[in-house]
Amino acid sequence: STPVLEVESLKKHFVMTGSFGKLGGVKGVVKAVNNVSFTIHQNETYGLVGESGCGKSTLSRTLLKLISSTDGKVKYANKDILQLKGSELRHVRRDVQMVFQDPYTSLNPRQRVGQILEEPLLIHSIGTKKERMEIMSDMLEKVGMQADHFYRYPHELSGGQRQRVGLARALVVNPKILILDEPVSALDVSIQSQIINLLEELQAEFNLSYLFIAHDMGVVRHISDRIGVMYLGNLVEEGPTERIFQHPLHPYTKALLSAVPVANPDYKRERIMLKGEIPSPFDLPSGCVFHTRCPFAEEQCKTEVPQRTENAADHFVSCHLYH
Ligand code: SF4
Ligand code: MG
Repeated sequence: STPVLEVESLKKHFVMTGSFGKLGGVKGVVKAVNNVSFTIHQNETYGLVGESGCGKSTLSRTLLKLISSTDGKVKYANKDILQLKGSELRHVRRDVQMVFQDPYTSLNPRQRVGQILEEPLLIHSIGTKKERMEIMSDMLEKVGMQADHFYRYPHELSGGQRQRVGLARALVVNPKILILDEPVSALDVSIQSQIINLLEELQAEFNLSYLFIAHDMGVVRHISDRIGVMYLGNLVEEGPTERIFQHPLHPYTKALLSAVPVANPDYKRERIMLKGEIPSPFDLPSGCVFHTRCPFAEEQCKTEVPQRTENAADHFVSCHLYH
């Protein structure tokens, strides 16, 4: 299948000075995103998982230059998004849309749904007033809302409805890719599955590719074709979804999966409980960033950064256990 978005050696490092709690007054480099590479293909859902603070939201915001990156490339339609400015960047931001976790804070509370949906059409100079009305009412229906929702304010809607509006707003400009940053994390479990089903319908209908970001392996499993696992700014494992669930390799992936209930009792999963807290990003461990919490860590892990290796077809891992 055809690659639509190629992220190559993306880095986002911050230099911070000041006082940081128990670290005291320090000047620290935060490697929020450290050398991350992955590719999203046409019509594919790529699930990116990791605990909060692992860098996945920072990563998603660097892809469209909502925040600057330190190094790397994000290739889309034969261009590097990170090098684009002005109208070229605006054009890419029409094709690659972001949907945020909490639609309540990302929707303007003083705008009615109609105004919210019209804004991106006006920004991109799409259609006459009449054509815009058609596009908007058509999209409202596609996301499972009724015509009278057009005149409502965000506070009059439920969380699920607000996320439907967030999706409609992203889709009115006819994008190719959606970057979905924890799109269901703020919703009740029953509503989560409705929104995930809706995302799958919309993907098939509009031939979309998704980057689906979440902290919950269970949520990611339902929608993703492939999964990338992030820990402290590093992509530590990547592979096809079922392969990751049935043959997880990286101890961190195994730990994340240990928290997910096993549906099939015949299938024995090695359970790993994580020691301690996620380390401060100011104070990244040397060698393998996971060594302070890894039950298999050896001397080598404290000093040598594990290289990414292909363990099986399309299944990559960065861990000394697999060298
Ligand atoms: Fe654990 Fe070492 Fe593998 Fe890192 S490289 S995950 S510390 S075994
Ligand atoms: Mg899919």
